[in-house]
Amino acid sequence: MSQDVGKVYLIGAGPGNPGLLTLRGKSILESADVVVYDRLVSPSILAFCNANAQMVDVGKMPTHHKVKQSEINKLLVQFAKEHPDGVIARLKGGDPFVFGRGGEEALELKTAGVEYEVVPGVTSAIAVPAYAGIPVSHRGIATSFHIVTGHERDNSQFTIQNSKLNDSGKGNSEFTIHNSELSVDESCTEDVIAREQSDRSNLSSVAGLDFSALAKCPGTLIFLMGIANMDSIARHLMECGKDPKTPLAFIEKGTTPFQRTVMATLETAGETIIRENVTAPAITIMGGVVELGKSLAWKQNLPLSGKRLVVTRSAKQSSGITSRLTALGAEVIETPMIETRGLAAMASADFANLKNFDVLAFTSANGVEHFFTALRHQNLDVRILAGKKIASVGKITEKKLLEYGILCDYVPEDHTGEGLGKLLAEKVSCAEIMPDRILLLQGNLADETLLKLLPAATRWIVYETLPAKGIPAWKREAISVADAVVFASSSAVEAFVANTKASDENALEDAADDAGIPKLAFCIGRLTEATARKNGFETITSDETSMDSLVKKIAEFYSR
Ligand code: SAH
Repeated sequence: MSQDVGKVYLIGAGPGNPGLLTLRGKSILESADVVVYDRLVSPSILAFCNANAQMVDVGKMPTHHKVKQSEINKLLVQFAKEHPDGVIARLKGGDPFVFGRGGEEALELKTAGVEYEVVPGVTSAIAVPAYAGIPVSHRGIATSFHIVTGHERDNSQFTIQNSKLNDSGKGNSEFTIHNSELSVDESCTEDVIAREQSDRSNLSSVAGLDFSALAKCPGTLIFLMGIANMDSIARHLMECGKDPKTPLAFIEKGTTPFQRTVMATLETAGETIIRENVTAPAITIMGGVVELGKSLAWKQNLPLSGKRLVVTRSAKQSSGITSRLTALGAEVIETPMIETRGLAAMASADFANLKNFDVLAFTSANGVEHFFTALRHQNLDVRILAGKKIASVGKITEKKLLEYGILCDYVPEDHTGEGLGKLLAEKVSCAEIMPDRILLLQGNLADETLLKLLPAATRWIVYETLPAKGIPAWKREAISVADAVVFASSSAVEAFVANTKASDENALEDAADDAGIPKLAFCIGRLTEATARKNGFETITSDETSMDSLVKKIAEFYSR
């Protein structure tokens, strides 16, 4: 293998839910120089790519024309040659080798002498039924399962059902609206459709399937790409002796927030697709196991199922809330709007001056983190705080302090800066603490509330907040169809508004009036809430300044 060309990774992105990407896939995306992805790969998965990667959407190139498979093959070789020692990620829906044309791409790479690795993905054929509570095999019901291609294409005119779907005005348009959250490789259908269109009259050519063999199969049948042809597939199976009462389920947009299961039987398959407007991407699963889905379905019952939320916290802070929201069924688009940076002044701070203070007051978890990082850089540790009282504005900051082994002495009940100021002022007035021996440890954007209430206190700015610069186009698309944004600080609101406005010349005065931005904001803290309102958002604010409280509030809001 040549050393002076990059290596191509054929990566399975899984069926859509970002949690179903493999660890190997994620780590390659994080380091990839180029990411070649299909039109429907979930934005939450693209978010794992490093910010400097060249993102190539082969479903929608500048001309808005889908790139042909043969061109994709060539592109991969070309990128490998352009990036000696580079990492080229080819991201495909589900598993790259399950009806994904990954084999063809590998052959082309092999011929061109480009090194490659296949990173298997979770295939929709098994994962999508699992998300609908349908096991593909089950003792006593199905001892085998068969994954079959039905060669569907969502905008084809070659079957009755599909043209009817399109007449209803929904088929294509609805698919387009939701397409960005799905992870499906559709390029695999292209050649087959051309072939089928040429000999459409011959029904037995549907999907080139051996129906009599399939009808005799005692196991579960799983059809990918089969919605458009399902009516004729079902008829052929019945003609070949398969029981018309065989239960089947269509599972649409599986594992995404928009997953839907529609149950039918073999004899009602065609009419059900039309009546329920089942659209691609969807799988069809047939057999006794489908009945289990009636009692085992779990995903669609989650409180945040169907919701897409934008989380604007900095990358290192967002994972907690993301996993909690995801567990409740939401899709989360992490869009960090602020990053914090320790200040040079803190790196060289003279911590010996801490002897002049009896109370250290922290007003954010960031402040805690940057203070202790600076301390460590000076070769010091927590013992320097011996005997001092520690104050925290709220629960998140308190929890962060606990991570460093510090228990708080003062935490106001209302978890606000004002509350903390008043609490410490009270302690001053009853002479429990001296007014000039209070040290406030804050970020550069902290307001004057605390200093006003504690005029004799000293303030150290321990970190600065930097707004994010720009949101990539693919993420803006995802944000525009999100249900709400989650804000944990005023600066995140401001950076979000600035960034979403900046790249949209037609933005209206009020950010949330802009069609490209959700109107609803879930906020932590009254200040954040006020900033969000000022910027035109409708707000829902957590009762306490904690992530738990916010997540609870979000779940309550959507289960109303
Ligand atoms: N390599 C992919 C399959 C590509 S063929 C895999 O292993 O999953 C594309 C077909 O996969 C679609 O037409 C649909 O039948 C199925 N599919 C992919 N993702 C899906 C999803 N999230 N929900 C339902 N079906 C899906």
